[in-house]
Amino acid sequence: MLLPKFEYFEPTTLEEALRLLSELGGNARVLAGGTDLLVRMKLKVERPSQLISLRKVPGLSAIIPRDNHGVTIGPAATAADLSKNELICDRFTPIALAAGRLGAPVIRNRATIGGNLVNARPAADLPPACMVLDATLKLKSTHGEREIPVGEFFRGPGETVIEPNELLVSLFVETPAPWSGGAYIKLGARKTLEISMVNVAVLLTLQEPQGLIVDAKIALGAVAPTPVRAFAAEEFLIGRQPSEKVFAEAGAIGVGLCQPITDHRGTMEYRCLMIETLTSRALKQAHERALGWKP
Ligand SMILES: Cc1cc2nc3c(=O)[nH]c(=O)nc-3n(C[C@H](O)[C@H](O)[C@H](O)COP(=O)(O)OP(=O)(O)OC[C@H]3O[C@@H](n4cnc5c(N)ncnc54)[C@H](O)[C@@H]3O)c2cc1C
Repeated sequence: MLLPKFEYFEPTTLEEALRLLSELGGNARVLAGGTDLLVRMKLKVERPSQLISLRKVPGLSAIIPRDNHGVTIGPAATAADLSKNELICDRFTPIALAAGRLGAPVIRNRATIGGNLVNARPAADLPPACMVLDATLKLKSTHGEREIPVGEFFRGPGETVIEPNELLVSLFVETPAPWSGGAYIKLGARKTLEISMVNVAVLLTLQEPQGLIVDAKIALGAVAPTPVRAFAAEEFLIGRQPSEKVFAEAGAIGVGLCQPITDHRGTMEYRCLMIETLTSRALKQAHERALGWKP
């Protein structure tokens, strides 16, 4: 399959990239790793006349610790970068685990977090992980910049609040509180190169080791047109003593909040069953990690 014709731009500064995006108008697209966009162009689903590559814009793939208070992640950080970064693995575990399950090594070396979020597929791996960590996305255009909580970013399959002249320039994630632990579980028909049938990200915070749950975040993917937070299940968990029974009950509440579909990857009934099972399993894993939290 051949790519249709397009004009190619390689800006070397952020300002130049923003100017091109503004001047070229709605039929130009940003090119990051190309693992979504180039495939869609080959399939003739998208036909942009111009591509603006981020490859030579400096600093966009950086992962920068902000003292102990958080991390800034560049949109061009790849899934491979994120899955291997020590800070992300230790403190922002759901992102590292989700990045490590995206595609296969050859895809992870190119696929970026920015592309995964802007592409906004309901089954994508990184959105639920960013949602349980309450990431804030910075969008920039030649007219200014704005910050959007990731939970308000997705509008529907393939749709986000980003405007055609805006670039996602960074994500900021606050460091979770002490005694927090995270987990990410993806269910597909295969172990690699598989789009999720259901995915679950979790962040659990304890009052103290062996203490009550003081905060819980659960996000589910491939169960609705956008990834969703299971707020009722989170509320149920807060103030309770962690136990397998409590985690199973939270999983059952989580199912009630989803609208899964039947498709070639799985039936609605199977997905519901899996939401319950995987939520409970992810909570258990997150709890074990919270117990092993190190200052
Ligand atoms: C074989 C294969 C397997 C895959 N497996 C998985 C999987 O398991 N899980 C999964 O979630 N995905 C999977 N994908 C999809 C894809 O790899 C990911 O969504 C990837 O993260 C996209 O990132 P990218 O850098 O390649 O984006 P691109 O293809 O470069 O861009 C995707 C979209 O985002 C826009 N964009 C990119 N960066 C920015 C930015 N900074 N600001 C504004 N807009 C931007 C582009 O204009 C485009 O519309 C797979 C794809 C392939 C081909």
